[in-house]
Amino acid sequence: MIKAFLIKYAEIAIKGKNRPIFEDALVRQIRRSLKKVEGSFHVYKTQGRVHVETEGEYDYSGAMDALKKVFGITAICPALVLEDEGFDRLKEEVVAFLKESYPGEEKTFKVHARRARKNYPVNSTEINATMGEYILENIPGFKVDVHEPEVMVDIEIREKIYVYSKSIPGAGGMPTGTGGKAMLLLSGGIDSPVAGYMIAKRGVLLNAVYFHAPPYTSERAKQKVADLAEIVSRYAGEIWLHVVNFTEIQKYIYEKCPHDELTIIMRRYMMRIAERIAEETECMALVTGESIGQVASQTVQSLAVTNEVCTMPVFRPLIAFDKEDIIKISKDIDAFETSILPFEDCCTIWVAKHPVTKPSAKIIRRHEENLKELIDEMVERAVTEREVIKID
Ligand code: ATP
Ligand code: MG
Repeated sequence: MIKAFLIKYAEIAIKGKNRPIFEDALVRQIRRSLKKVEGSFHVYKTQGRVHVETEGEYDYSGAMDALKKVFGITAICPALVLEDEGFDRLKEEVVAFLKESYPGEEKTFKVHARRARKNYPVNSTEINATMGEYILENIPGFKVDVHEPEVMVDIEIREKIYVYSKSIPGAGGMPTGTGGKAMLLLSGGIDSPVAGYMIAKRGVLLNAVYFHAPPYTSERAKQKVADLAEIVSRYAGEIWLHVVNFTEIQKYIYEKCPHDELTIIMRRYMMRIAERIAEETECMALVTGESIGQVASQTVQSLAVTNEVCTMPVFRPLIAFDKEDIIKISKDIDAFETSILPFEDCCTIWVAKHPVTKPSAKIIRRHEENLKELIDEMVERAVTEREVIKID
């Protein structure tokens, strides 16, 4: 019976000139998300609305699942689409629709009609009153409540007539592609996929970089990161994953620098390399999953020392999140089960027993001098010889 979905979006952020850009991006992302769903879908915008109409048989729950992952949507309303065949016919259709949607249920309701097409012979106030009365007479469990109805029966009279009463929450945020592009430092952990999801939710397109240390980290560890990128891409759209071989740099740091500073120096090289690739791929910011105090390399002092090697803004959406809150999002986006698979991470292999928690930038810079003979060519090699995987 449901032949269409009315798509609602928050309008506060999209006044004026930006509105068509926002709406077109939303239409594009909805089309993309429905491509993998069985059925034929027609997606278009009218004033203030985006519509999805279906033709023939289609996979309702597949379509709903896909739409729930599109950023920019605040609510999805499964709707009945009717040709105008007179008001009496409309009354019957609405009652049949409600009986099917709430079989045998007791509900309070209110009719809310809007007439975008003014030549419709019955005005909104009359529709509300007459339709309300007709529902009351024909559905035993339904009672009117104009103040706090459980069921709002929305009727929109346009070229066609749309009837809907359920509003399923959407993913919120802004449509992908309306917010520039950023480079996510994606590890196999819990945090960075969540960080990527959160930044993508603001409309930002993502590239991702993963630092791989073969043979110390396995192919399966790399596959796990690709799988996480795929999970994020269900929301964020296509992601280019750059896999950087970090082994020789890590070994070199291990040889030349104090071991308690290993992690922090490694983190600085990750940021430098990520920024290089970001520049090449027209990303304008870096994204990490860091959160204050989580580990030694994420104290405020460590973050400051890591940060000083970048000139691009570094977005750290989880900076003030507790682990439980991060895990909750990780589970919501279906990343958690993959994130906790036990594969080694390049950071943990050479990790010191007592890493510095209050590094001094001056001292770290001085110790990085020990690397000057070979580090530039190693970084160059890491950047140019990276593997690039398209994740969709
Ligand atoms: P995560 O759960 O995201 O792995 P974490 O709590 O393990 O984070 P760290 O290992 O200190 O924290 O890493 C901090 C951040 O640095 C990560 O969130 C990620 O953005 C980035 N990062 C760490 N290791 C890698 C890696 N091997 N490849 C790419 N980025 C990494
Ligand atoms: Mg990690």
